[in-house]
Amino acid sequence: MAERFVYGPVPSRRLGLSLGVDLVPYKVCSYDCIYCQLGVTKQKTIERKPYIPAERILDQVCEKLKEGVRADYITVAGSGEPTLNSQIGSLIHKIKKHTEIPVAVLTNGSLLGNSQVRESLMAADVVLPSLDAYDQTGFETINRPHPDISFEAMVEGLITFRKEYPGDIWLEVFILEGINATEMAATQFKRWIERVNPQKVHLNTVVRPPAEKHARQVSAQEMAGFCKALGDKAEVITPFEDHKRHEKGGDIEKDLLNLLARRPCTLDDISYGLSLHKDEILEYIDPLVKNHTIEIVKKGSVHYYQHRKPK
Ligand code: SF4
Repeated sequence: MAERFVYGPVPSRRLGLSLGVDLVPYKVCSYDCIYCQLGVTKQKTIERKPYIPAERILDQVCEKLKEGVRADYITVAGSGEPTLNSQIGSLIHKIKKHTEIPVAVLTNGSLLGNSQVRESLMAADVVLPSLDAYDQTGFETINRPHPDISFEAMVEGLITFRKEYPGDIWLEVFILEGINATEMAATQFKRWIERVNPQKVHLNTVVRPPAEKHARQVSAQEMAGFCKALGDKAEVITPFEDHKRHEKGGDIEKDLLNLLARRPCTLDDISYGLSLHKDEILEYIDPLVKNHTIEIVKKGSVHYYQHRKPK
């Protein structure tokens, strides 16, 4: 089966209907965040190179556009840190030549101290970087960065990017129980946020199974208090309701069937849409295929799962 670098469109809490574009193989990242829902980083690096050539990715984006795909955003993200792909800039430019759909970049922001990385993101319509720590200790505890990235270099990169980039910046702050969720932490975050000056601040916490068990969810009440302390730009984006349903274990199947009832999806689409690891999804899919609730449809070389329509 040909490798797919484009998936969806799938519903995204932050971006509406999002056509995802993967720029690095699973899981190449400059961080190894304790809360990462993709699992532990396999290749921690700051080496920039064409991990997946832009032309191969662009061909798949164009295929989707030719099919008449509808999406609110084309989201450059994927199975690791997309700015590690040294062709990200040319890819964004080329995508924009083919479509009016705005391009969003989901990044951990770790490489924004590098002027070439900042330059490569200039054509994006919105950039969504992360800021999960307010000092070096928290940075090492939460993000476990590559040793050549310091907190100061990372945050100064964000501040410089803000000064140069004309588009919207939506900053994500990820809060963890017992680690960075205190009142004092909120005050520290606020100082950095004022310097980065994003258009929006998205506050998030653990929902899906994290890379490490000690990455724990903050309660909805605590999140609301933390959010208020960050000021008017901040909003909570955690789907607490979904989390409660998934904890009972009974509703992943329902969410999966809802998604497949709307459109056929690849395994990557489902993984992205439900924010679950592919192995976990297969545990739900296999019995549903066996009892004929779901069928597998092959289109070209790609396998799609779809809800069987009642006869
Ligand atoms: S930056 Fe993103 S992909 Fe990389 S480890 Fe953290 S959460 Fe996972």
